[in-house]
Amino acid sequence: MTILIHAGTLLAKPGEEPKPKQTIRIADGRIARIESGFAAAAAGETLIDLSDQFVLPGLIDCHVHLTGEFGPHHKMDIVEEGPEAIALHAARHARVTLEAGFTTVRDLGEIGGAGNTIFALKHAIAKGFLPGPRIFAAGSIISPTGGHGITCGYRDDINLLLDASGRADGAEGCRKAVRRQVSRGADFIKFVATGGVLTDTATGTGQQFFDDEYEAIVATAHMLGRKTTAHAHGADGMKAALKAGVDGIEHGTFMDDEVMETMLARGVFYVPTALAGTTVAEYARTQDFMPPAIRQKALEVGPHIVDTLRKSHAAGIRIAFGTDTAVSPHGQNAREFSLMVQAGMTPMQAIAAATLTAAEHIGQAALLGTIEPGKAADVIAVASSPLDDVTALLDVAFVMRDGKVFKASQAPAQS
Ligand SMILES: [Zn+2]
Repeated sequence: MTILIHAGTLLAKPGEEPKPKQTIRIADGRIARIESGFAAAAAGETLIDLSDQFVLPGLIDCHVHLTGEFGPHHKMDIVEEGPEAIALHAARHARVTLEAGFTTVRDLGEIGGAGNTIFALKHAIAKGFLPGPRIFAAGSIISPTGGHGITCGYRDDINLLLDASGRADGAEGCRKAVRRQVSRGADFIKFVATGGVLTDTATGTGQQFFDDEYEAIVATAHMLGRKTTAHAHGADGMKAALKAGVDGIEHGTFMDDEVMETMLARGVFYVPTALAGTTVAEYARTQDFMPPAIRQKALEVGPHIVDTLRKSHAAGIRIAFGTDTAVSPHGQNAREFSLMVQAGMTPMQAIAAATLTAAEHIGQAALLGTIEPGKAADVIAVASSPLDDVTALLDVAFVMRDGKVFKASQAPAQS
């Protein structure tokens, strides 16, 4: 089946100038060709008219958690809802993410009690049973007992009941936990290099594993062909994770010059998640549902991330778009773009971070990130140019993933 898209303005490859009046020819879910001007559809071809729209590649969010959503009821939801409810909610989160223009996500860790939801969801979407983005999943976060991402703050027997398969202590335990994620189907390995904000323990935001544990995690993941990424706020944990060979840094809140130099020298990607930082700081200031341990960390960490993004961008570190959505509501991922621009990136650089660079970061540059022949037909459209005002991306009018239309304001015309 051949589909033609008439694009009023086409940003085929972020970083290069957009072109007016282009035709994208799509066959079997892949981009076949791009032609200048509006080509006529032949008999049997489908025409999608986006001649008054700004068309760009589907967006990629490198840091989401589709199985949960933080908010006032989060703590009770975890113990009241089983994996079935979590799975149904996750299906909704996936749909609204796709409808917001994000055709690919990397899921960096399931919430406690989610069972195998993330992998079931990934496969259901890939089979076309459910609308959602293409998912690359980490499974459970590798974290020590009492560490970030491990269920804490309930009676200890409840904590253990909600334990996911990523809890690991000692080098041998870490190797086993990584192998366990790979056996479950993990595409990536995510581990905690430091404490985190939304874990109900007053353990700060510094290093949480010993050096031999970081080494065991990264070496095992690499041996099994999986890249690693580290949740990190404190510089001490980032240094230890970088020494062990980690491939990406999430949040990176308190990174210092030494961390930035190492990241630059080694080409390590940075996923800022500024939206999560501003969201938790705002909740801590305006709402009263956060336990004291979480509130304290939210106020310390939240406001720093935009500054860190500014410094790291100025230093030339490669930035891949990521929001940590689940901290903020699903479907609002594009709010990150304004924060990136606030931190000194141009709209074009922010869009490149969410397409080209993100695709490279998740090892999918051959398939995703641009509208070029041979790549997946992941195409979105907005009413006005996001290069003039990046908030245009908050209102995505058209979404195609793998050549299939999931959102459109008008029905395609069949010739
Ligand atoms: Zn996260």
